[in-house]
Amino acid sequence: MPHAVYLDHNATSPLRPEAFAAMTEAMRDVGNASSVHGFGRRARKRVEDARGAVARLVGAKTQEVVFTSGGTEANNWALIGASPAKLLVSAIEHDSVLAVPGGEPIAVEGSGRLDLADLERKLRGAPAGTLVSVMLANNETGAIQLIDTVVELARQAGALVHCDAVQGIGKLPVDFAGLGVDMLSISAHKLGGPQGLGALVLREGLESAPLLRGGGQEGRRRAGTENVAAIAGFGAAAEAAAEGLAAVAGLAEQRDRFEAALLSAVPKARIFAAESPRLANTSCVAMPGVGAETQVMAFDLAGVAVSSGSACSSGKVAPSHVLAAMGVPPDLAASALRVSLGWNSAPDALDRCLEVWLDLHRRHRERRRIA
Ligand code: PLP
Repeated sequence: MPHAVYLDHNATSPLRPEAFAAMTEAMRDVGNASSVHGFGRRARKRVEDARGAVARLVGAKTQEVVFTSGGTEANNWALIGASPAKLLVSAIEHDSVLAVPGGEPIAVEGSGRLDLADLERKLRGAPAGTLVSVMLANNETGAIQLIDTVVELARQAGALVHCDAVQGIGKLPVDFAGLGVDMLSISAHKLGGPQGLGALVLREGLESAPLLRGGGQEGRRRAGTENVAAIAGFGAAAEAAAEGLAAVAGLAEQRDRFEAALLSAVPKARIFAAESPRLANTSCVAMPGVGAETQVMAFDLAGVAVSSGSACSSGKVAPSHVLAAMGVPPDLAASALRVSLGWNSAPDALDRCLEVWLDLHRRHRERRRIA
């Protein structure tokens, strides 16, 4: 049964029509972007046009954008390629950052924001070649981090900064040069591009060993024949996303209305990171006493697609490390649901969600009363 209401854009966003058109056009063609003949040159043009569009979206120079197989590869490469002497990562990073060995966690506050005093402490006396990795916005709560301050503290200590902006691009204006970070990870499928494609933006002149070795593609920085169709789709999605930034910011109104209605009906409900600046499209809400997986299934039966905590790997039932790092008690964290809007969400998309949520809460309360 197709979902009537899709509220899981932070897991993946539907392919934009502009991306679909660019991809089908590229797939009808033939050509390896490294070939010197006309077919190859045409493929190269698609790749370079897309690189330009992605660079414009994130305020980077074209030559600083290196295409990868997604956000995961970009994050792995950023952390491994820089061979840091010491690696500091926020405790709420995506698994593709946390899984890189050697990372020392930086604490976060209950608000979902980085504990800057802890970062400052951990940077004291840090060796040359230290790398700090902090995400722009969290995939579960939407909390936006103070990257400017992170960069300032890191610079004072002579450390490099990597920022995972996978959830930020297409939802917030992102300016690589203005932010002052050394590396920025992005992914196409979070903004309406294809899955399996992303990029690492590397500050010009920064030394980073390639993760994938072989051919000389991507300026000898990432080996492997470029996925021309997916890259073309990313470029088209990036252009459309740049034009749609104001519309995404406007989603906050609908999200805030949803949260206010929910809290007024059920004061015991909890909205995570509500006190911190958040992505306009994201709401992470706990229905105390009802397991998140039970909620996700009930929503699914009602035709509404939402997720529990981080749903990057489907079927994941592990407790959220993000909420744990924020000091949320495990039983409350186990009842947290993530609702995320996106570029094609209807203005009343959350009305149905609210209805299902309240109905489920009422049924749970009645069951408890009978038992
Ligand atoms: N970083 C964050 C914050 C994410 O939310 C995700 C995916 O959900 C990733 C990285 C991984 O990106 P990809 O799915 O392109 O590998």
